[in-house]
Amino acid sequence: MSSVPSPAPSSLAPHDRARPLAKGSPKPAKDLCSDCGLCDSRWVAYVRRACAFLEQRFEAMEEQAHGRSRRLDDEDELYFGVHQRMVTARLRQPIEGAQWTGIVSRIGVRALETGLVDAVLCVQQSPDDRFTPVPVLARTPQEVLAARVNKPTLSPNLEVLEQLPGSGIERLLAIGVGCQIQALRAVQATLPLQKLYVLGLPCVDNVSRDGLQTFLESASRSPDTVVHYEFMQDFRIHFRHSDGQEETVPFFGLDTPALKDVFAPSCLSCFDYTNAGADLVVGYMGASFGRQWVTVRNPLGQELLDLVEPELDLAPVTSSGDRRQAVQQGIDAYEKALKLPMWLAELVGVFVQRFGPKGLEYGRFSIDSHFTRNALWLQRHHPEKVDAHIPAFARRIVSRYRLPTP
Ligand code: FAD
Ligand code: SF4
Repeated sequence: MSSVPSPAPSSLAPHDRARPLAKGSPKPAKDLCSDCGLCDSRWVAYVRRACAFLEQRFEAMEEQAHGRSRRLDDEDELYFGVHQRMVTARLRQPIEGAQWTGIVSRIGVRALETGLVDAVLCVQQSPDDRFTPVPVLARTPQEVLAARVNKPTLSPNLEVLEQLPGSGIERLLAIGVGCQIQALRAVQATLPLQKLYVLGLPCVDNVSRDGLQTFLESASRSPDTVVHYEFMQDFRIHFRHSDGQEETVPFFGLDTPALKDVFAPSCLSCFDYTNAGADLVVGYMGASFGRQWVTVRNPLGQELLDLVEPELDLAPVTSSGDRRQAVQQGIDAYEKALKLPMWLAELVGVFVQRFGPKGLEYGRFSIDSHFTRNALWLQRHHPEKVDAHIPAFARRIVSRYRLPTP
């Protein structure tokens, strides 16, 4: 029997020599870590250039993934990133229990059924707690469907990269939020894959599991029975309870002073709301109520959408209203940590819903509100990171508003 000499250590790639960080140990991004999972895999070897909270590389990432970076003078690209197509859609037969109509899960299922990929990176939930994420490499449609619905908590999706070597997986569809996708794109060339498709979700205001509890206790009348919630385009938070009941609360009725510290520091310093590095992004905020918002960034994204397009009720994107005054008022109210009495919050909610921004303009309202808040948060909490951390597109958006003194 001939023995194969093991390669000299120096010829090994950095990730072949690295070990995942021990669970619970301090992470390189310290308080800004979003627990994306990269450090729980051997690809921690590249953390200095891959971590979304250590180095921002939007232009390089966009060029790598889409062949060019976004055009800052094009208002739609400034806000929503590189794209070749933007539509709204709903699955004609929605998937029961999905976050919206289930377009994301259906794409995952079809990608496996058609043999486009060998596995789907997605996140299921702990059997003990609906909101505790459990990332998996799903190999069957059933495993993808078991991952449907948001786990609105920081999720270490990239920890499952550790399972790739020796798994036989050569073609992968990765589903994830911006910080996970930034790190994934940075290590993509070193992964043992022939093909990678990336299906992104927009993401903002995520929380740790403890933070989620504080939020639910502050916002819902029955925090322990909430199984699903979403901040929707009608300016209300929609909670669904385990008995099927719906509860809605106006955004403007939230106890802002109590919630100021609830969001994760990673999310308060993030400007990748619309998931710039994904091939295809499926969210809701640029669509009318009840529909989903689909952004195709490149040909791989269209290949993913092709898997389900015959099953979709499609419509063009629309836009109406003017967000700017509402954003400026929101910045001022947030600064004063105002909490409106519920009757007034309801009244403001009805007014804004009737006359406020809709479609893409609602998307821009949400982006402006979060980018201005986050720029201010960074200036106050990490002034040393402001220059490197706020990308050019976010600077241009933030400069349109009057911010309080840091
Ligand atoms: P489903 O078919 O139900 O599938 C949901 C998918 O989400 C699953 O594949 C699962 O793997 C994945 N997933 C669940 N939780 C996580 C997590 N924590 N991290 C990574 N992946 C996860 N859209 C907007 O337009 N605006 C927003 O502000 C916005 N905020 C979001 C915040 C969070 C934390 C998340 C997870 C999503 C957010 N989205 C937002 C996306 C939106 O809520 C829906 O997830 C998306 O439209 C897909 O709906 P669906 O019915 O097709 O998904
Ligand atoms: Fe590591 Fe991800 Fe945390 Fe950055 S965000 S320190 S890459 S786990």
